[in-house]
Amino acid sequence: MKWDRDAEEYLKRIPFFVRGKVRREVEKYLSSKGLERITLADLMDAKEALMDRISKAEKGYEVFGCFGMESCANALVNSKDLMEAIERILEEEGITEFLKEKVKGPLKAHNKFKVGFSECPNCCSQIQIADFCLHGVTLFEVDPKKCSFCGSCTEVCEESAIVLNDYGPIVNEDLCVGCGHCLKICPEEALKEVFRGYKIYLGGKLGRHPRLATFLTYATPDEAVRVFQAVLRLYKNLNIKGERLGTIIERVGWANFKEMLKY
Ligand code: SF4
Ligand code: SF4
Ligand code: SF4
Repeated sequence: MKWDRDAEEYLKRIPFFVRGKVRREVEKYLSSKGLERITLADLMDAKEALMDRISKAEKGYEVFGCFGMESCANALVNSKDLMEAIERILEEEGITEFLKEKVKGPLKAHNKFKVGFSECPNCCSQIQIADFCLHGVTLFEVDPKKCSFCGSCTEVCEESAIVLNDYGPIVNEDLCVGCGHCLKICPEEALKEVFRGYKIYLGGKLGRHPRLATFLTYATPDEAVRVFQAVLRLYKNLNIKGERLGTIIERVGWANFKEMLKY
């Protein structure tokens, strides 16, 4: 479909990681109305209709991800299988019916249990505001005997997390985000990967009382499934009226929640 320039400009205000999806939805909606060209006014009509549709959630959950392995050089993991496994669990656990029962009425978008994936620590998909968040990371160890002191790792690290001293590279674990850029560039295999998987965070949300998700643990894909099942069990047990996981965590306290979480 052809977009007018001002409609295209308006579309650019939408975050890039959802822009393609919004474009497709708008085109689908407007072409169903027989339009072939999109003006700004058409775009506003579509926005209103789609927002109304979005606010009425059909499912009680949402699983979303970044572009990741499909198209991004930064991706550390491929989450396709894990995303499917998580969706299956949400279906099997009847989360939609559970939430409908809890909220005693039609579900809204803000009732959904949201699972967010990012395949590297850049977290483009804003996972920090999802109930269950995962981002891809790598952990590594240093073999100073193999280091040729080329300095490439210190140059590539955007976090200043790695420095060279007389004995080789020293990594500041508080600064390192596990992006793996230094591993990729090291010509001597002096940096050796010891873990590739996810960091899991819980309880992010927006709304009246926004909360960024809290770090829980590192996990391989298999471990992530077990953690997810345990979190979902506890979420259901502690849920009173369909509130978000972050609200539950705030109510019971993070330390207590962690104590109750068995996986
Ligand atoms: S989160 Fe990382 S892997 Fe995913 S799109 Fe962003 S940069 Fe790429
Ligand atoms: S993994 Fe990334 S953040 Fe950590 S030291 Fe290497 S380049 Fe720096
Ligand atoms: S990139 Fe590898 S060889 Fe070069 S300084 Fe860093 S650890 Fe040593």
